[in-house]
Amino acid sequence: MSTAQHEEFDVVVVGGGPSGSTLATLVAMQGHRVLLLEKETFPRYQIGESLLPSTIHGICHLLGVTDELASAGFPHKRGGTFRWGANSTPWNFSFSVSSKVSGPTSFAYQVERSKFDKILLDNAARRGVEVRENRTVTEVVEDGDGRVSGLRYTDPDGTEREVSAQYVVDASGNTSRIHKQVGGVRKYSDFFRSLALFGYFENGKRLDPPNSGNILCVAFGSGWFWYIPLSPTLTSVGAVVRREDAAKIQGDPEAALRGLIDECPMIKEYLDGATRVTSGQYGQLRVRKDYSYHHTTFWRPGMVLVGDAACFVDPVFSSGVHLATYSSLLAARSINSVLAGKIGEQRAFDEFEARYRREYGVFYEFLTSFYDMHVDEDSYFWSAKKVIKSDHAELESFVELVAGMSSADFDLTDAESGALRLKQRSAEFADAIDSLVDQGEENMAPLFRSAVVRQAMQEGSQVQTKAQLGEYAGDDIPVFEGGLVASPDSMFWQEQDPA
Ligand code: FAD
Repeated sequence: MSTAQHEEFDVVVVGGGPSGSTLATLVAMQGHRVLLLEKETFPRYQIGESLLPSTIHGICHLLGVTDELASAGFPHKRGGTFRWGANSTPWNFSFSVSSKVSGPTSFAYQVERSKFDKILLDNAARRGVEVRENRTVTEVVEDGDGRVSGLRYTDPDGTEREVSAQYVVDASGNTSRIHKQVGGVRKYSDFFRSLALFGYFENGKRLDPPNSGNILCVAFGSGWFWYIPLSPTLTSVGAVVRREDAAKIQGDPEAALRGLIDECPMIKEYLDGATRVTSGQYGQLRVRKDYSYHHTTFWRPGMVLVGDAACFVDPVFSSGVHLATYSSLLAARSINSVLAGKIGEQRAFDEFEARYRREYGVFYEFLTSFYDMHVDEDSYFWSAKKVIKSDHAELESFVELVAGMSSADFDLTDAESGALRLKQRSAEFADAIDSLVDQGEENMAPLFRSAVVRQAMQEGSQVQTKAQLGEYAGDDIPVFEGGLVASPDSMFWQEQDPA
């Protein structure tokens, strides 16, 4: 290893996934010097292929990649199709309120992440970010006052380098250890404690139009399957099962996946005649476990966590890339505001952390309701996912996660009231699904009347409206009493106009 070399930037970002590219781009667009270090060389494989509209029409619009995404040929996702809950009939969740009222932004994409992530990373470089691939960040560096002041990384030839920056952003996903240096701990969820086994198939069946681009989620005794169309012929297929089945899967994943498919008649029928891809980036079966966690603190002076480095809930409603890019928008606003001298660091990052925790909490509740409404009490997987049977420590962890927020949304004082509230919200959501199935898929109104659905869509649609309309979107309303609002161009925080 040769001697260390030193450089200076305003911001250095660890990781070139959606969270890293988003943050780096939004900060570089304000004229700041941003370095992004990525361990791999893109395109690289990643899971997380089903997206939500606010990522596409909100954040990707701000990044300036709308046309590039439109011409990439990604399947259009109108929503999700679920064989889930009390009713055996599959039901559709559509991003538009009804099939008659669908706007130009009521869709998202199903993406091959190797392509999507490369579009975002190349765009970052075009917008002024210094992107260096094949560089592994090894540690964060502090100054004498305990403030993070830079990091060390290794060049492809083994040279160790040091970079100084006013902010280090950890966007390195779920695998790296950099997050530890923000302080606090990573807390794993027991409720969502599952394991995913996934692979890719050619020539699987498609849902009927207009839902052929939907994600299909099918519950069965041992867990649930996702079935995501990535092209007219390629499908991503994954089974989420209980953590206790890990040994079975590690033994022979091929036999395990085949066995799970055989247990689930709908997926078996959809894959009848399909062949598993066995070469290239999609050639291997992969396993992910312990993917559900949150870090107890999201920032310290000079350092901030975004995306999977900070938290991830569960794959069931495609929230991962949304939380990753949304957290990066919030953190970029904080960094831009502090670097421009508009807002003090503590106030700017408290706003970031409170909003990020709130959005994580909203999805946590929504996804808990999703699992709770399944009625298969005899199955180990589903009975463990009943809110009433949940571990007390888990609910305490949830209360801790959202506690201290001044929003009435999360007026929770203890784990007991947390459990009651989760139970009530779950029951209300299950009723909304039942009335949706009764009324037919034309009318999404019952779903959007459900508190958990409304909240899960609320902040995303706010981001989307603001990104599309800018100053014409009207004044932002603070999420917390006395809190900050977004500037008309979405790039900064500002005090609410007293008028
Ligand atoms: P990543 O995409 O992981 O990017 C982090 C980057 O950092 C990587 O490129 C990595 O190489 C780099 N890196 C790591 N360490 C270092 C280092 N030391 N130095 C330099 N670079 C480094 N989300 C959805 O939206 N939809 C889905 O359908 C969905 N399905 C999922 C299914 C499963 C089973 C799981 C586990 C997750 C799923 N997700 C889904 C979540 C999604 O994968 C993540 O939320 C998303 O990829 C997070 O993006 P990110 O940018 O934070 O991290």
